[in-house]
Amino acid sequence: MAYETIVEDNIDILVCGAGLGGTGAAWEARYWGQDKKIVIAEKANIDRSGAVAQGLYAINCYMGTRFGENNPEDHVRYARIDLMGMVREDLAFDMARHVDSAVHQFEEWGLPLMRDPKTGAYQREGRWQIMIHGESYKPIVAEAAKKSADKVFNRICVTHLLMDESKENRIAGAVGFNVRTGNYHVFKSKTVIVAAGGASNIYKPRSVGEGARSRVVCALVIRLGLRVADQRRRQDDPDGEPHRTGPVQGRLRSGGCILPAPQDLHPELPGRRV
Ligand SMILES: Cc1cc2nc3c(=O)[nH]c(=O)nc-3n(C[C@H](O)[C@H](O)[C@H](O)COP(=O)(O)OP(=O)(O)OC[C@H]3O[C@@H](n4cnc5c(N)ncnc54)[C@H](O)[C@@H]3O)c2cc1C
Repeated sequence: MAYETIVEDNIDILVCGAGLGGTGAAWEARYWGQDKKIVIAEKANIDRSGAVAQGLYAINCYMGTRFGENNPEDHVRYARIDLMGMVREDLAFDMARHVDSAVHQFEEWGLPLMRDPKTGAYQREGRWQIMIHGESYKPIVAEAAKKSADKVFNRICVTHLLMDESKENRIAGAVGFNVRTGNYHVFKSKTVIVAAGGASNIYKPRSVGEGARSRVVCALVIRLGLRVADQRRRQDDPDGEPHRTGPVQGRLRSGGCILPAPQDLHPELPGRRV
């Protein structure tokens, strides 16, 4: 059987991977870029893909500022102590100040959150975690992403990102294949958001233990020569023994690596060119 090559051209924003990070990125991209062509390429099916589709029972990190529970600076203090000082406080603060509004939006979209009948505040397990009906989490965020994107390509495993031939340090798109049909897909895009899953339990394969992540994000971008500068919130200790690190994980782990500026491109690893 001959495989087809399918080209999707003139994309403004390509989102590779549509777990919680990618669906959010697509929604946010549409919010800021009403007239942009936004395309999603997802290895599985967006309705049930990614770690969050496993039916989580909680949102690991919620400040509860509107209920007078915590402020972002409390969370930075918690993260600093928990990570023995090895934390970028500006990033932790930035995450913490946005997390509540994201949760409120999920509730508006229909995610059931358990509430304390007396206070009306979200029901908690521990200081940072709130309880949800996790089974419906991914279909709800997937719906928002599908409405935001011009096209969603399911079953496309992105294998390489492409660099622009004529402009230095400029992304040009990505290629991959359909895991069902074997067809080859070329996405030509001005911008690429790689949200294919960060890294945690990095010394262990995904199949071992709870919470391990495949670090596909890193695999894709390292080939372009980007140095993966920071694996914030790494979950293992150097001896390889995993330990549950608690509530900040969900948000900080999303998209787990912080990428440096283009001038940090590794000179000996030029990306594939088109
Ligand atoms: C077992 C488990 C329990 C958890 N429990 C909780 C919890 O209770 N509360 C909480 O807040 N957090 C929890 N987390 C963490 C939370 O689910 C994750 O941090 C979050 O879902 C990560 O989202 P993501 O989009 O960064 O990555 P992912 O969910 O990994 O999404 C990556 C997406 O990219 C796709 N993809 C991968 N490679 C490619 C490729 N090459 N081409 C195209 N697409 C690709 C994948 O199919 C997937 O859809 C849990 C995680 C796990 C694994």
